[in-house]
Amino acid sequence: MKQLLPTSTAGSLPKPSWLAEPEKLWSPWKLQGETLTEGKEDALRVALQEQQQAGIDIVSDGEQTRQHFVTTFIEHLSGVDFENRKTVRIRDRYDASVPTVIGPVARQKPVFVDDAKFLRQQTDKPIKWALPGPMTMIDTLYDDHYKSREKLAWEFAKILNQEAKELEAAGVNIIQFDEPAFNVFFDEVNAWGIACLERAIEGLKCETVVHICYGYGIKANTDWKKTLGSEWRQYEEVFPKLQQSSIDIISLECQNSHVPIELLELIRGKKVMVGAIDVATNRIETAEEVADTLRKALQFVDADKLYPCTNCGMAPLSRKVARGKLKALSAGADIIRKELAAGK
Ligand SMILES: [Zn+2]
Repeated sequence: MKQLLPTSTAGSLPKPSWLAEPEKLWSPWKLQGETLTEGKEDALRVALQEQQQAGIDIVSDGEQTRQHFVTTFIEHLSGVDFENRKTVRIRDRYDASVPTVIGPVARQKPVFVDDAKFLRQQTDKPIKWALPGPMTMIDTLYDDHYKSREKLAWEFAKILNQEAKELEAAGVNIIQFDEPAFNVFFDEVNAWGIACLERAIEGLKCETVVHICYGYGIKANTDWKKTLGSEWRQYEEVFPKLQQSSIDIISLECQNSHVPIELLELIRGKKVMVGAIDVATNRIETAEEVADTLRKALQFVDADKLYPCTNCGMAPLSRKVARGKLKALSAGADIIRKELAAGK
C-alpha cells in the first residue's frame, strides 16, 4: 500500500430500501429469485460507488449480498438445521433464535467467492472481504452435535480457511475475520480462540485482519456498554497474545469509546485499523474529530501501520448518515496525511 493512512470501513453499509427494509439487522429481502440476485449486484455497485466517491482507499462489497454477517455464512454449510431453532444468549448479552448444529459441519460449495469475483471486476482498488470469525460463529448457534465450543470452532476454522483461500484466488487483497466475541470470552480467546483464527488464515498470502468491536449500534449493545464503566479495558485481556499471533492487522473501536488509547502499546508492531467513526450515533463526525482520534492513535501506532476505519459496520444506519461518515473519515485522514507530510 503506497498511500499513507489508507481508509476503509469495518464492513457493512446500509442496503437500499428497494432491496431490504432499511435501518434494521436481519432485514428480510424485498426481492426474490433472479430479481434478488440482480438486486444484490446492483446494491453492491452502489455501495462500491459510494465508497469510491467518498475517497475510501480499501473498498468492500458493503456486505450487500448478506442478510447478516454470521448467519448468511452458516446458511451455506451442511450440518446446521435452520428449521430447528433454539434461543441462546449471544455474547452473554441478548437472546436470539438461532439454528442448531445437528451433524458434522462442512462447506459443500463456495459461499462468497462469486460475489468477490464480481466486486473484483468492478474496481482496481484494493478490496477487503469480511468473514465471521470461528468464535463468533459458535456463539451464534446451538450445538447439539460436537458438544464442545472449542471443537466446533476448530471445524469452522478449517471451513473458513477453504473459503479464504478461494477469496484470495478471486483477487481479494485483505481478508477480515469479525470476532466481537473476542471482547467477551477472554479465557477462551487465549486458550484456543486465537489458535482457531490462525488455523483459519493458514497458508494465506494476502493480508489478514481480526475485527474486534463492541458491536453494532443496536440497543442491546449500547445498554451493555453502559455497564462497562468509565474505562473499557477488555482489549487488554487479548492484546498480548494477539500481538504474538500471525494475524497482520487488528481492527478496533476507538471513536467515542472508553478504550484507553494507550492499550494500543500492547500490540505495537501490528498494523491497526483504528475506528475513527462511531456507528452508534447518527451524528456525523467532523473531519477534525476524526483527525483527533487518529492523532491520539499515532502515539502508539507507527504512521505506516495506521489504517483509519469505522468502529464497526454501518448496516443499521441511514444511507445519508453513512455517506456523511465515509466522507468524514476520508477528510480526517487527509488532515493527518498533510500533517505527516509537513513533518508535524
Ligand atoms: Zn464490529
